[in-house]
Amino acid sequence: MTLLSLQGIPASPGRAGGRVVRVADAPGEPPVGPAPADPAAEGARIEPAVEVVSARLQARADSVSGDAKDVLEATIAMVGDPALLDNARELVGHGRPAPRAVWEAANAFAEMLAGMGGYMAERARDIQDVRDRIVAELQGLPAPGVADLDAPAVLVAADLAPADTAGLRPGVALALVTEQGGPTSHTAILARSLGIPAVVGCAGATAYSDGQFLVVDGSSGEVVEVATAEEATVAGAAAVAAEWDGVGRTADGHVVPLLANVGDAPGAAKGAADRAEGVGLFRTELAFLSAAEEPSEQRQREVYDGVLAAFAGKPVTARTLDAGADKPLPFLTLDGEPNPALGVRGLRIARVPGNGADVLERQLAGLAAAAKETGAELKVMAPMVATAEEARWFVERCRAHGITSAGVMIEIPAAVLTAREIMAEVDFVSVGTNDLAQYLFAADRQSGPVAALNDPWQPALLRLIRMLGEASVETGTPVGVCGEAAADPALAPVLVGLGVATLSMGSGALAAVGASLASVTLDECRARAAAACAAPDPIAARQAAL
Ligand code: PEP
Ligand code: MG
Repeated sequence: MTLLSLQGIPASPGRAGGRVVRVADAPGEPPVGPAPADPAAEGARIEPAVEVVSARLQARADSVSGDAKDVLEATIAMVGDPALLDNARELVGHGRPAPRAVWEAANAFAEMLAGMGGYMAERARDIQDVRDRIVAELQGLPAPGVADLDAPAVLVAADLAPADTAGLRPGVALALVTEQGGPTSHTAILARSLGIPAVVGCAGATAYSDGQFLVVDGSSGEVVEVATAEEATVAGAAAVAAEWDGVGRTADGHVVPLLANVGDAPGAAKGAADRAEGVGLFRTELAFLSAAEEPSEQRQREVYDGVLAAFAGKPVTARTLDAGADKPLPFLTLDGEPNPALGVRGLRIARVPGNGADVLERQLAGLAAAAKETGAELKVMAPMVATAEEARWFVERCRAHGITSAGVMIEIPAAVLTAREIMAEVDFVSVGTNDLAQYLFAADRQSGPVAALNDPWQPALLRLIRMLGEASVETGTPVGVCGEAAADPALAPVLVGLGVATLSMGSGALAAVGASLASVTLDECRARAAAACAAPDPIAARQAAL
């Protein structure tokens, strides 16, 4: 038996193995005729079909959250687009059967998007998905795409619609392999957000069929067929954890502490169990999201002690409350701001009239006391800092509480442009790539339709991080990364090559990132960083850094 191995584009990191389930292809192109005998009745069939498809997608949207929900809701909006319905009905009036009319109307829409290129072109796939669902409904065929899986499987498809990917359950959908698609497609973005390993653009993948066994490496893009279920499971689970010895460093010994992002004591315990070398981002606001009033001193101490105790003797970087925008805290956030992401968020709350400054003082006192109690090496940083003056003001507050290591997050492009001045004020900086990308590209990090702009492989974002690395060398102030970018095993060597000293991530990613760093030298990291920065777009950057 010949086993088929293929190479595609890595789109979502991680490795998994299991049996193949081939995702049903969409219905083919419907025939142009015969012309309906009763065009009015034929045209009237379209709207109910649209409603059925919308309702199914809505049911799926209701069962998920986050990016998956956003994508499904964007798809539902496309299904219900009145122009699509009107154009299809008009085509029925010109003698097309309803399925054909929907096909042509949707194609015209998709072609228009494809002609716009770039991000809009990727959305053409969403329109085709909507088209196929309505056509299948009108033809009385089962809905195309992924049926509910009854057992864990590797999904193989010509292409997967975002709406399909959004409904997948990690652990049941072990991995995805698609013949088409790019790493910035919604499917890839969703797979990453769901933590499902994925390889896209894998030519020849549709030759795999139900019942074969594959091992999929979403970090390298390799898809390997194996003979048995057991081999697939063993190879898939050959945990990268086993390849990481718990110390972050490159193959030639350049040390890069790998830290955890946590929000509470259970998260910190998991981080410690996953061998985090400390905490690089303690999102303190997460513990208080539902608090109507400022949490009492005692409540704050419980939360801070709980996190710091898991890392006695190790560094724990607590971020002061990052309230506002997508994380409102009822007792702090200003009401009624027209653009909250650009408004009084993070450190800014402590600097406008109100109780923000007092809340900050009490939080710093609580954190300093927790450090004494637990023996963790406390570092404190402020979110949403734009200027050196803000950084100085914050560091003074920290010093007044005896906090010896005080820093700021770099999340605003202005702070990159003045990095030297900011670094002169602080003990360290940490790059929040999620917000830095959002503010760099003017692309809401919560919006599915602009998600590709927030891809951490965007060369413009990498070039900003390079500027920070250069400023760090000049000033001696270390720069870490604690946004999602740090959790991508392929991106980690690039960040290190750009001059990043620590990486902090959801602790589930530690082993894969550790193994990735251990496989490259510092010079290789630098070469990958240079190649990724020089690339014209995120896809090319990712490929250049392989
Ligand atoms: C970031 O913006 O990258 C970050 C780490 O902070 P948050 O995601 O909590 O805004
Ligand atoms: Mg942020």
